[in-house]
Amino acid sequence: MGEVDFSRRLSDVFRRRDFHRTLIIFFFVYYSVVYYFGEIVDLAGWEALRWDFFYGVHDVHRLFFLIPIIYAGYVFRVKWALITAFAVFLVFLPRALLVSPFADPSLRMVLFTIVSGIIGALTGMVRNESERRSRLEVLIKTERDKLLGILERMEDGVLIIGPDYRIRFMNPSMIREFGEGVGYYCYEYLHGLDEPCDQVCKMENITNGATERREYTFADDRTYDVIASPFTDSDGEVCQLATFRNITQRKKVETELIELNQLKSDLLSNVSHELRSPLTSIKGIVSSLLQKDIKLDDETSEMLLTGISEETDRLASLVTNILNMSRLEAGAWKPEKESCYITDIINEVLERQKWVQKQYVFEANLEPDLPEIYADYNQMKQVMINLLENAAAYSEEGTRITVTSRTVDGMVEVSVSDQGVGIPPEDLKKIFDKFYRGRQSRQKPGGTGLGLAVCQAIIQAHGGQIWAESKTGQGSTFHFRLPVAPSGEGQG
Ligand code: ADP
Repeated sequence: MGEVDFSRRLSDVFRRRDFHRTLIIFFFVYYSVVYYFGEIVDLAGWEALRWDFFYGVHDVHRLFFLIPIIYAGYVFRVKWALITAFAVFLVFLPRALLVSPFADPSLRMVLFTIVSGIIGALTGMVRNESERRSRLEVLIKTERDKLLGILERMEDGVLIIGPDYRIRFMNPSMIREFGEGVGYYCYEYLHGLDEPCDQVCKMENITNGATERREYTFADDRTYDVIASPFTDSDGEVCQLATFRNITQRKKVETELIELNQLKSDLLSNVSHELRSPLTSIKGIVSSLLQKDIKLDDETSEMLLTGISEETDRLASLVTNILNMSRLEAGAWKPEKESCYITDIINEVLERQKWVQKQYVFEANLEPDLPEIYADYNQMKQVMINLLENAAAYSEEGTRITVTSRTVDGMVEVSVSDQGVGIPPEDLKKIFDKFYRGRQSRQKPGGTGLGLAVCQAIIQAHGGQIWAESKTGQGSTFHFRLPVAPSGEGQG
């Protein structure tokens, strides 16, 4: 503690200007006395001090004056070095004018004053320069620290790539996103390539002064907005400075928005078209029925009324599917699960379909003693209705539609097969997408491309799977599987 105090006090003393001024004056006076000490000894008659040194070596005495001159130059810079040199010259004057026995006494003194003045002034200048340099260094260091601080705290990744494609710098955010890579080649580090790529490594454009903005999607689906611009490194080399902003989330939202917009326009065009056609038919039939001047026989009236009934069914099924889909999407149609038998659901729906679509031959092939499933009865009915309506819609009248059910791998599997037009292999993957409609020659009137999407959403909400198999021209089979009810589930 005491030592620290002492050294602090000492450095305080050295910082004080009057301390240095006193010291310079002390040296100045001291060497002036030494310079004239021979004369003082003579005047005072101090015989014992009559040494040769005080009489014959005045050039050496004059050299001592370099000490206060250089000191003044070092501490108080050029002006005070020159003032001290001039004061020294004044000290020399009496000897030159009155005392010196030599022929040309002033010459040496003038020369000495000039040379010592220059040395003192140079000392001051060197000191000025070195101080300016250290101030500049501190400034550069502060600026650099500030810059590094900003880079460290930046959320965007920052990468500096040298002209040899080697990574020179990475900020912490970049290291977090991609891992440490300083010293690696950028193409190797970012893309796993063996040579420069035309993506990150567009070095030539950048080093020629261009700033480029690009979007990269990496193999793991992360997308970055990258801005690359030239940057002169401390060694004077023009490098590439690239900032990486992770926009994966934003991209996802953008894609979803685009899909949503697409869906909206698909829905509008599909629905408005499909709603219009049954309405036009109904309007036409009703107009015929209302014509007072034409008497319709019973058979014609019944035919027209059946037409109205069928078109109304189409409208109802269309609206039901649209409503179901939007309720499912909004999470407002959650399955109200209960223990039930799939056989009951199949039989009930088959009865209805046999009555509505009398032109088809419906068959059921149900394994006896199927276990109970834990499901929403009405949602399951909707799945069966959609599959059976499709089977009829995409088959010729008089063909067979078979419903099979069995247990497979601890799940209940239901299959609906028809002998219809079938589904081309390229459509098979897409038919469960919302609003997707196949391109078969036969089209279901009133279809929206929502029926299978509704089926899929319901089956998935029950923890099951749904898929289709088909041979074009020979028919299709739709299968779905549901987990059996855990024992005791829903019994209370
Ligand atoms: P849609 O209203 O068009 O019937 P779906 O979602 O019910 O909509 O079906 C989507 C598409 O799948 C249909 O357009 C059709 O191309 C095809 N599809 C569905 N079921 C069958 C089937 N049983 N036979 C042949 N194609 C089918």
